[in-house]
Amino acid sequence: MARQQCIGILGGTFDPFHEGHLGMGLGVLDTGCLDRLLVIPSGDPPHKSCAASAEDRWKMVVSACSRDKRLCPDRTELDRSGTIYAVDTLHELQKAYPGASLYYLIGTDTLLTLHLWRRWEEVLRLCTFVVCRRSQEADDASVAGAIRRFTALGGHFLTVPVTPPPVSSTEIRRSLAAGLEPEGLNVSVLEYCTVKGLYGTPGRLEHIDEWIDALFAALKPSRFAHSLSVAYESKRLARLHGVDSLKAEQAGLLHDCAKCIPLPEMRRIAVSRSLTDDEHFLENDALLHSIVGASVAETDYGMKDPEVLEAIRYHNTGHTGMSRLAMCVCLADSIEPLRKSYPFLEKARALAEQSLERALLFSLESTANYVTSRGLYLHPRTRKTIRWLKSLPETSEA
Ligand code: ATP
Repeated sequence: MARQQCIGILGGTFDPFHEGHLGMGLGVLDTGCLDRLLVIPSGDPPHKSCAASAEDRWKMVVSACSRDKRLCPDRTELDRSGTIYAVDTLHELQKAYPGASLYYLIGTDTLLTLHLWRRWEEVLRLCTFVVCRRSQEADDASVAGAIRRFTALGGHFLTVPVTPPPVSSTEIRRSLAAGLEPEGLNVSVLEYCTVKGLYGTPGRLEHIDEWIDALFAALKPSRFAHSLSVAYESKRLARLHGVDSLKAEQAGLLHDCAKCIPLPEMRRIAVSRSLTDDEHFLENDALLHSIVGASVAETDYGMKDPEVLEAIRYHNTGHTGMSRLAMCVCLADSIEPLRKSYPFLEKARALAEQSLERALLFSLESTANYVTSRGLYLHPRTRKTIRWLKSLPETSEA
């Protein structure tokens, strides 16, 4: 007989989604008691109003959850109109996953207010609550007392040894409004808030609503998160090295706008717009998406700035005489904070704090060695960029 599926539910306003939510979800998944975890942002919650729109909260959740495939963002509450209650959501999920056991993840603060949920006695029968410690929010005696009382009324509870980072959306909104960079936000969510000017953050970009909607539709979630992270890192490097940080942020955000276009379509765009006749580019989406991306950024995103377009066009190979803006984006692409660890990552990051040219040289040489050692094709333009970088006074000083 097939084993009963165990489905976790992490519901909340996620205004914004933070590392406390992620830590709770991943911590419970790691205990092995769940097959998957649905992350369900509330649409129109009964108990509090949201500062960000439902669609912004959704995109932030999708972006942050893209780092682990066991996290499944779910629109059950967003796609219903009117006030949404957990009891209705649980009934819907029972229909969607017949026979599955439902596990509702909550922090200890929520446990203490469970009796305020609509039809809470019914909720107790529909799911098992998985309670995570939320530091400083509730003492052990009140937690144990609440679990005892609800259990006596037919509830089922699991307490798990998971203590997520002590962050809250309220604190995060407060520090964003004060112009600070709060701890406890995934960098893609932090950058999302910044470019969109959410929660009073200064620095909202022009045309950002159209850009974000188009990127979100065109890219896979992990690519969307990566683009936000490259925008963040390009801007940071630009500030550090005296380059125009607004242009760097724009180029970082758009650099992969063509990345998820299928190769035949990318090739069609390249040929019909006479972007290149280099066969190596036309055969390889890892190379071609940068050239096509610069063109799509111009036609579909209205980006006209030639420096920004140059940075997008050469973000994978670099080129002889490339601008320092282009260097920021090319380097940010390989060292952005969400990058999974690879052998030379930490050294490239350390060099990036000192010199753009030296860090980019190191990064391109490491890539070239990696590619050739595996018998893969390295485009001559990368070799030329390396030779040119080596000829600069900034790299020969070291
Ligand atoms: P706010 O500060 O706006 O009240 P929040 O940070 O509590 O927001 P919610 O979206 O309301 O976030 O939380 C959804 C669920 O996640 C709740 O059950 C809450 O208890 C739990 N939760 C949120 N942050 C943490 C955390 N740092 N540790 C443990 N549980 C948390």
